[in-house]
Parts: sequence; C-alpha cells; structure tokens
Amino acid sequence: MAVLPIVTYNDSVLREKAAVIKHLDDELKALIDDMFETMYNSDGVGLAAPQIGKSIRLFVIDGDVMMEEGEEPFGPTAFINPSIMSKTGKNIPMDEGCLSIPEVRDKVFRPETIRVKFTDQHFVEREEEVGSWIARIIQHEYDHLEGVLFIDYLSAFRKRMHKKDLEEIESGNREVSYPVVSKS
Ligand SMILES: [Zn+2]
Repeated sequence: MAVLPIVTYNDSVLREKAAVIKHLDDELKALIDDMFETMYNSDGVGLAAPQIGKSIRLFVIDGDVMMEEGEEPFGPTAFINPSIMSKTGKNIPMDEGCLSIPEVRDKVFRPETIRVKFTDQHFVEREEEVGSWIARIIQHEYDHLEGVLFIDYLSAFRKRMHKKDLEEIESGNREVSYPVVSKS
C-alpha cells in the first residue's frame, strides 16, 4: 500500500466528468487499498479518484468518526461506478471541507437522505439508503466524479471570504500535513 499525493483545487482533473470503470480486477483492488491509506493518512473521511489524478468513477469513505449516538456504523466502503437513485428529506446545511482544498470549510445545503447503488471493494453490488453524515460524504464525493467541488455551491460573498486561502493553495504556498501536488 502507498500514500498517494492529492491534487489541489485548481487542477483540471477535478473538473472532468470521470469515466465509468470497466474492469473489476486486482489492479483496481490495489488502487482502492492505496486510496484508503491516502485518506487515513490525511485524516479525511472521503477521497475520490480524481483527487489522486485518476478520472474514474471511484471513491472511498469512512465516516464512522462523525457518527452520532445511536447511529449504525457504515464502515469503510469503496464506491465503484456509483449512482444516486434518489434524494429525499429537507435540504440541510452542514460544514464541509475537502482534502483538495486544505483548511477551507463552509456550510453547504444538501438533501438529508439518499439512495445509492454501487459496487463495493469486494466487488459486491449494493443498494443502500443512508442519511446524516454518510449521505453528506457520499454526495460530496459523488460530486467529484462530476467535476463539481463544494465551493461551487457557495455564494459569491462566501467565495470572496475564501479568496486568499484559495490563492495560497493555488500558488503551492500553503503548508499541508499530507502530500499534495499543486498545479503551478
Ligand atoms: Zn472533496
């Protein structure tokens, strides 16, 4: 297993629509292992393949640290070729961050509950209905496969508030505790 460098927000790979994965093989399993290791190394709760420079429909999550009392643990899970079947419940605000946009956090409104279909790390096809933080993380990571970042949802005012941070990340001058690649 290996820790892979994470690309930062101005990298064009984060703006691509990721490709469907055709082969479920050992190479994919090894990549999934590396992505879990990379995510844990950076204390993240989710990591999408475009963030390590691969424009394919894959992300990993482990949101159990965010669990509130009485919630069932979901466990570390890979999502291969996921599709979000439905979104239900109110749009609720929650604080989000992104390993590709270090130290920038803000509130994003998203539906409370989703139904998602995917193939997991054991290559088992699953369909799950999830809420709370797990639904939040899945929606954030799914967006990465569509070339969307959480800052895209912010108002012009909120974006201006983060302008300096974004410029610092873009120039590669931000100190980050995990390996990143900056574009410039
Ligand atoms: Zn992200």
